[in-house]
Amino acid sequence: MAIIKVQKGTKDILPAEMPVWHFMEEKANEVFTKYGAKEIRTPIFEATELFARGVGDTTDIVNKEMYTFEKSERSLTLRPENTAGVVRAFIENGMHRLSAPVKLWYKGPMFRYERPQAGRQRQFHQVGVEVFGIKQATADAEVILMAVNYLKALGLNDLSVELNSLGCPECREVFKTKLKEVIKPYLNELCPDCQARYEKNPLRLLDCKVEECKEIYAKPEIQAIIQSDFICEECASHFNELQGYLNALNINYSINKLLVRGLDYYNRTVFEIKSNNLGSQNAVCGGGRYDSLVRNLGGEDTPAIGFAMGMERLAALIGNKKDKKTVAFVVSNSPLEAIKLTEELRAKGITAEFDLTNKKFVKQLEKASKVAEFAVILGEDEIAAGKATVKNLATSEQKTIARNDLVEYLK
Ligand code: ATP
Ligand code: MG
Repeated sequence: MAIIKVQKGTKDILPAEMPVWHFMEEKANEVFTKYGAKEIRTPIFEATELFARGVGDTTDIVNKEMYTFEKSERSLTLRPENTAGVVRAFIENGMHRLSAPVKLWYKGPMFRYERPQAGRQRQFHQVGVEVFGIKQATADAEVILMAVNYLKALGLNDLSVELNSLGCPECREVFKTKLKEVIKPYLNELCPDCQARYEKNPLRLLDCKVEECKEIYAKPEIQAIIQSDFICEECASHFNELQGYLNALNINYSINKLLVRGLDYYNRTVFEIKSNNLGSQNAVCGGGRYDSLVRNLGGEDTPAIGFAMGMERLAALIGNKKDKKTVAFVVSNSPLEAIKLTEELRAKGITAEFDLTNKKFVKQLEKASKVAEFAVILGEDEIAAGKATVKNLATSEQKTIARNDLVEYLK
């Protein structure tokens, strides 16, 4: 019979890769907890409407990449990102009544119908943070610090932080008008996506990955507008304050005026962290401020800022991590004695195994030396004397000790 294979763009995460995933998850808990963040888990599917309104209906994510299906005449969508879901949960659970800031972090699978390639899957995982209730730049600084310090805790360096300010809806309006004006003569030469964006969301033009479009946007008269300081005084002072904090904390960053981010809801601070070791899918982290999203989804006016990181891309940078060996492998001709001692060791917190097939002594020792740090040998003499012989499988050192001292010795 034909075997059924894993779906295109999805992957099994096999036991051999698990140490890296556990490492990423444990570090996330450790680092984000230090900043006072609490974990939240929201459902994998939500009402399609949540993403249309939350992520924005001019984005690639909503227009092309969503896994949408119907059940009982409801349109549902597998979450393509988790900010909208977290905001929904924030509103639904009245979290605006908690004292600000409310700091939440999450991890889990996301789904986007994209063209699979290295670093780009259809089911992938993100770990992310959302901080609610603070409009001051201190929150922007803290969120960027959380991202940078998490990456540091993973042992990743050779990363660069890129920063931009999109201003507020008011100052952005002026910028959009100027940008449209200067791009207008080239409108016919732009890709179909950009032609649609031109009217609906001109800022996103700068996000286009098509070479021909990029060349057009590199023209001097267009660059002059892009590189101009269009943001209003208040937005500029917010951005300056943020940079002041980052400078004081020795966080390296560069300002990238082309950084507009793929999602519609951002305002003021946006940032990305890129790796210099990942080839073309080099963004490991994307984030920004989204002060109007909570209100747009029906909640109380609540400023917020957050980021998401792609865990497959982090895993690729971290590389292999060795699995820990079993501590003790009990070797005995008596499966009964072996199962009893193995359980006793496990109860005392020691990872332990024994040979379930009751092979010959030598075979058991061979197996032990492959999977364990110590062989705990229970021969007839040892059993009679209430002892066990412990063999260090790395050094071959061997010692016979009382059963009562076994746990202490192995620890
Ligand atoms: P990209 O420009 O690479 O498509 P994006 O702007 O769509 O990224 P975000 O929505 O900001 O990405 O998601 C944050 C992070 O999640 C990205 O920086 C990336 O590391 C990861 N990511 C996004 N899409 C995928 C995917 N299809 N497969 C694997 N990782 C992804
Ligand atoms: Mg994308």
